[in-house]
Amino acid sequence: MIVMKFGGTSVQDEEAIGRVISIVRSRLSEKPLVVVSALARVTRLLCAVADEAGQQNEEKVRELLAQLRERHFSLAANLLSGSPELLGECNRDIETLISGVANFVGGVCQIGELSPRSEARIISVGELLSSTIISYAFNASGITCHWIDARRMITTDDNYLSARPDLQVTEANVKRIVGMESRGTDLMITQGFVASTGKGATTVLGFEGSDYSAAIFGMALNAERVEIWTDVDGIRTADPRVIHDTRKIDVISYEEAAEMAAMGARVLHPLTIEPARKRNIPIRVLNSSNPSCEGSLVVRSDEAPDGPKSVAFRDGILFIRIASDKLEGVCSMLGKVSGALFARRIPVTMAKATESEVYLVIPEEWDGLEDALDEIAAWASVTVYRDKAFISVVGRNITSSEGLGDKVISVAGKVHLADVGANLMSESFVIDRERLQPTLEAVHGFIFKDS
Ligand code: ASP
Ligand code: MG
Repeated sequence: MIVMKFGGTSVQDEEAIGRVISIVRSRLSEKPLVVVSALARVTRLLCAVADEAGQQNEEKVRELLAQLRERHFSLAANLLSGSPELLGECNRDIETLISGVANFVGGVCQIGELSPRSEARIISVGELLSSTIISYAFNASGITCHWIDARRMITTDDNYLSARPDLQVTEANVKRIVGMESRGTDLMITQGFVASTGKGATTVLGFEGSDYSAAIFGMALNAERVEIWTDVDGIRTADPRVIHDTRKIDVISYEEAAEMAAMGARVLHPLTIEPARKRNIPIRVLNSSNPSCEGSLVVRSDEAPDGPKSVAFRDGILFIRIASDKLEGVCSMLGKVSGALFARRIPVTMAKATESEVYLVIPEEWDGLEDALDEIAAWASVTVYRDKAFISVVGRNITSSEGLGDKVISVAGKVHLADVGANLMSESFVIDRERLQPTLEAVHGFIFKDS
């Protein structure tokens, strides 16, 4: 079996879905489980619906729900124009989903309060709608397709908006349900992103969570591979929206891909790697607008080459210096600082400690950060530097590429803090935000100029 996940832009309209159908048709002998995202921009629209409902802006909610209807009904009409019977059934299903969410949103509007649980329920509808319509489109094209509700398979905790799966329970569910329901059909389709608690309340896996869903299904089914179909030719040496002469990475290890995600690259949802690595399931990142391109392969580290793979960055970070006037020791410094941050679940992109100082890189605007820094300020002096950016060169054993770190830093010019990741898989530094673009270009050009 294989798992094929199609992101929002790969299913955004009739044309894109036509391409998906022909790509999947070429893989039918491998028994695909197809996992789809919501149509492009629909999750964002649903988030706006939820938000406006919480603020009791009924007029705005009505307008947004009308857009949701129009987009899905017209897509179904275009895709299924040659199969009036299927179109009728599909329209009934779309109506059930949309009127269901409209009623629910009406309730949220009335009480004027949006809980994470309600929000998860609202935003999950995007994937339920897209998978329903695409399932009918497969059937209309002569491929028998069976639709499965992912909430029956992925069981999570009750952290509704970025829920974490219970992998053991999930694996058993997936095996049982897919095993039984795959009989007699060419293919199965389900949703990315959506899941449910053991008690049946809808949850979602966090933004861009469909990749993660695909990896979870791949693990549970012991799939031969997981294909992640997007709109670029695989994983790039940098974000192509920022740097124009990026290259495709042919082969990269799970660890490097995870490090790229941790350092800010928008490649795969950061948790995607874990389930795949667990069972050693290769992930291939492919372009649905250019299916003949081989894309990028993510595999075990002994199957991937060493050396720099990409330049990742985070724009808008806080660079924080914490200094004690005592020689506290590295452990004490790190222990006290981490305690204050961890208690508030504040993510740290990079940390470096000496006997009396800790330097931190933290994403801007994080709830609870001010409290944490107040707590630390009781025993140390805290300086927060704003308008900084963070650049990271990622690749296994980059430290063994002779002098690379020094050269990168000299190309980058003035840096505030440089550090080699403890896993020896990244060389990172902090610079002034206004120099981000030219520095990224210089570093990327320097590393990949001859490759
Ligand atoms: N539709 C969700 C999102 O936009 C999940 C995904 O596409 O991966 O974040
Ligand atoms: Mg995506």
